Amino acid sequence: MPLSIGIVGLPNAGKSTLFNALTTAGARVASFPFTTIEPHHGIAPVPDPRLGAVAAITHPDRVVPAAVEFVDVAGLVRGAAGGEGLGNQFLAHLRDVDALAHVVRCFRAPDVPHVEGDLDPVRDIEVVETELALADLATVDRELERAQGRIKAHDPAAAEELASLHTVRGWLQRGVPVRAQTADESLSRVLRPLRLLTAKPVLYVANAADTDLPDAAAAAPVRRYAAEAQSSVITLSAELESEVAALPAVEAREFLAAYGLSAPGRDRLMRAAYDLLNLISFFSTASREVRAWPVVRGTKAPQAAGAIHTDMERGFIRAEVIPWDTLTQTGSLQQARERGVLRMEGRDYEIRDGDVIYFHFTAG
Ligand code: GDP
Repeated sequence: MPLSIGIVGLPNAGKSTLFNALTTAGARVASFPFTTIEPHHGIAPVPDPRLGAVAAITHPDRVVPAAVEFVDVAGLVRGAAGGEGLGNQFLAHLRDVDALAHVVRCFRAPDVPHVEGDLDPVRDIEVVETELALADLATVDRELERAQGRIKAHDPAAAEELASLHTVRGWLQRGVPVRAQTADESLSRVLRPLRLLTAKPVLYVANAADTDLPDAAAAAPVRRYAAEAQSSVITLSAELESEVAALPAVEAREFLAAYGLSAPGRDRLMRAAYDLLNLISFFSTASREVRAWPVVRGTKAPQAAGAIHTDMERGFIRAEVIPWDTLTQTGSLQQARERGVLRMEGRDYEIRDGDVIYFHFTAG
């Protein structure tokens, strides 16, 4: 299962347009608030120029990039946490994602109605964040009731849990997202299973008019907001991205150049999404393919092998490791082996970004 990112934002912010551009899936795009009731899942490749460099050395049959899953979750409107617009159902879908991409409308378009009446990106962000906080409050209150029940049943752990839940409740009531707070170990233990929406890392996606690019003055308030919240932010035009996604690479570059852009916003978004999920990549070169595998920073060699196949984790013996740029400088795996720059690493080895790895394992 790849890690997943839930796309949130008010109706007509451009969520489905962006989702389509990222996944080129057929999520329906229309200027009507509640069209996308079922969440749409799609996989988007993570661009990585290192893959091409490694492939130039090993001449594989296939090059497979890493991927991140996106979930397009519609239905967030003012009052969603209270049940309006099927809001609660949508919010429930969000619990399973690992991070949020919050699409904020920064484009004017008379033919695309704005649910809040006029263009005001920061107000829109606050409407969405409030709904997420209210949904979390409801979750915390349900958990508080359970903890109180356990106190009555003389469960010794319940008192500490109750105190933690009251702390979190205080933050949420003041409108402070959980991610903005530092939680100690005992608080984290209580929080983790609740999968609170405001605890998830967030990437703000300022969706600007193509004519406003590359600087996108209308997106400046979103950039300021994100900077203050110490969150990531990128600016793009979802509509432009969906047009670019449909073009062959050469034409896409020419098309983007006309807007003063050197690369699609999609690339920046995917890199930011990868960082948000705390992912790094290692590369495998076996089976005549070069493939990037996403692992959470800090992953040890056997678990990384398990990302390829569970048998490889179970039967892990050792890993042959070389940084991708050492490999490209050396010229081939054979020469790297001869020069002794290919390292043997054991179970405790922590994977580094850009490692090219060959795992040795026993089958069965
Ligand atoms: P969602 O409700 O957030 O999923 O929004 P959609 O992606 O369905 O977009 C709603 C409408 O806004 C569609 O008609 C899109 O074509 C339009 N739209 C999305 N992004 C842009 C943009 O950057 N500029 C303009 N002018 N229209 C956009």
